This record gives sequence, structure tokens and C-alpha cells, in this order.
Amino acid sequence: MEKCTVCGVVEVFSTDPDTDYCLTCYMTGAFFEKHLASEDRSFMLDRIRQLPHVLTARVYHHGGGDFQLVICLRDGRIVTPGAGASVNGQRVVMPFVPDASSGWGVLIRQPVEADNEWSGMAFPYPEKYDDDELVELVAGLDALP
Ligand SMILES: [Zn+2]
Repeated sequence: MEKCTVCGVVEVFSTDPDTDYCLTCYMTGAFFEKHLASEDRSFMLDRIRQLPHVLTARVYHHGGGDFQLVICLRDGRIVTPGAGASVNGQRVVMPFVPDASSGWGVLIRQPVEADNEWSGMAFPYPEKYDDDELVELVAGLDALP
């Protein structure tokens, strides 16, 4: 068996020749983070992480086999790019890491002062963004609207 190409530690148990990562790196989001930081995705994750107003940018397992890119800004806003769709006239963004050709739907959550720290307003964006456009969008979020 080959070692995982993400952590370099755990063996790859999958017999699928296209699978070169281990279950741990898949479930922690590390596989997706490596993918989004690769040349195939124009290094988009690293470019977002280097923005001065970005606190963290990570991929989380959202449950149910879905993964969520979460970009936390220093002002408390949280950008959650995923699969965007319109359902019954409503814009929704679901947890998903799309391939490069599909584009990102974007939802931004803005916290409000309230009893619960998770209180906030959600702003789903109507457009889709390719990787470069998403980096540009996040770069433009350097100040509260
Ligand atoms: Zn691994």
C-alpha cells in the first residue's frame, strides 16, 4: 500500500487507483484543503489565507458526507462558499466543495449582538463565482459594508 499523499503517514486502504489519500485526511477536510490550495484550483485557498483581514480559511466536515469551506474574517463575518442554487425563488447555498468548472455559491453570515453568539444575518449572493472570482470577492470584504 502507498502512503497518503496528504499526510504522508497513513496508508491508503482504498483499491481505487484514483484515490491517493487516507480516510483521516478525507474526514478532517485536509484532502479538500490540499486540493483547493493546489495549482488545479489556482492556489485559491492559500491566496484567501494570505489576505490580511482573513482570520482562518478551512474545510470542515459538515456531516452527511458534505464538506464546507469556511472563511472567517477578523470582523466576525463568516463566508461559506458552497453549492449555490435557487429553490422556490429563494437563494440557498449548501455545504459542498464544487469542482473548478461548477463555480461557488456564496453566503455571508454577519453576527449581531444578542444572547446567542450564533445570532446573525445571512446574506446569500445571487451570483456564482469561479475560484479567482471568489478570491477577489473575499479580498473586497476588508471592511464592513
Ligand atoms: Zn492522510
